[in-house]
Amino acid sequence: RRAAALLSELNLAQIEAANGHNIEISKAQRIAQRGLVDAIGKTPLIRLKRLSEETGCEVLGKAEFQNPGGSVKDRAALYVVENAEKLGLLKPGGTVVEGTAGNTGIGLAHVCRSKGYKLVIYMPNTQSQGKIDLLRLLGAEVYPVPAVAFENPENYNHQAKRHAENLENAVWTNQFDNVANRQAHIETTGPEIWYQTGGKVDAFTCATGTGGTLAGITRYLKEKSNGKVKSFLADPPGSVLHSYISSGGKLVDRSGSSITEGIGQGRITDNLQPDIDLLDGSLHISDEKTIEMVYRCLDEEGLYLGASSCLNVVAAKEVAEKLGKGHIVVTVLCDGAYRYADRLFSRKWLTEKKLLDSIPKHLEKYIVL
Ligand code: PMP
Repeated sequence: RRAAALLSELNLAQIEAANGHNIEISKAQRIAQRGLVDAIGKTPLIRLKRLSEETGCEVLGKAEFQNPGGSVKDRAALYVVENAEKLGLLKPGGTVVEGTAGNTGIGLAHVCRSKGYKLVIYMPNTQSQGKIDLLRLLGAEVYPVPAVAFENPENYNHQAKRHAENLENAVWTNQFDNVANRQAHIETTGPEIWYQTGGKVDAFTCATGTGGTLAGITRYLKEKSNGKVKSFLADPPGSVLHSYISSGGKLVDRSGSSITEGIGQGRITDNLQPDIDLLDGSLHISDEKTIEMVYRCLDEEGLYLGASSCLNVVAAKEVAEKLGKGHIVVTVLCDGAYRYADRLFSRKWLTEKKLLDSIPKHLEKYIVL
């Protein structure tokens, strides 16, 4: 119980705010002075009670689903927009353009509305009408375009870039290779985790889409602990990163696919590149383990989480088991299950994906759709 004792002994007030950033954790004690954008971040670090008991470690999840847009991507959205402002690329009344089908678009929509910018989103036309409707009702102009490979100039990312280039006072925020994304986690998520654990965190793990979350948090925790905090990539099927890291740097062809959304990567992005060598290893997490954890988190912790969050939780459990009792292991709860419920809790979908057998019998009562 060493880790539990350490946590209860923490005197948070004595811990210096990291890097001069004002890490004020209690939401009750502050006013979001600049409006919605000041309500991004400063999320709780939730103790996963059952997994902590099982592993003899403190397994903690950063509650990113509590951000205004409902995901970890609100942080990156704010940083890419404010970076463009700082560089003079975006002036009042300007337009933000991004290629995204998911959480980044939602985060950008909130940030842009709050700051008075227009938002243009390009996405592959294979995405659900629900996502398009949500972005439009949040004020974005949405262009669903044919789903073609990155190499094709008509790919949604290239179209987003061209749109911004041809428009006055517009910026393509380019989440994959714009390192302001990673900077959000170096300046906010990393310091928050350090502060919330009183600098006692032993290990961190999470999956990557753009790589901003993993790289930024890893960089910060490594620097703060003189390299002592261990950091592990968690990777879904169909991503090349696990094989890249475990083979010492070979990029092999992507094969397979995953039920997770927003994670898995076919290349080393500019956000990941500077920090990939800092990682202590990587874990490959199957969809079977991920879906079981979706149901376990709901049943055991009351946490209604998306698949990427639950892949992260499986990884945190495996890291805790690897390190042995008495360690503090942190991961990221990226978003909630709300946008995915029609799949994750549907018997038909689970059967199609051959995942029905992965749900423990006593949790089948949650398969209600
Ligand atoms: N989980 C979800 C649900 C996401 O949408 C994303 C972003 N694509 C991630 C995890 C990964 O975050 P990052 O882009 O910082 O690697």
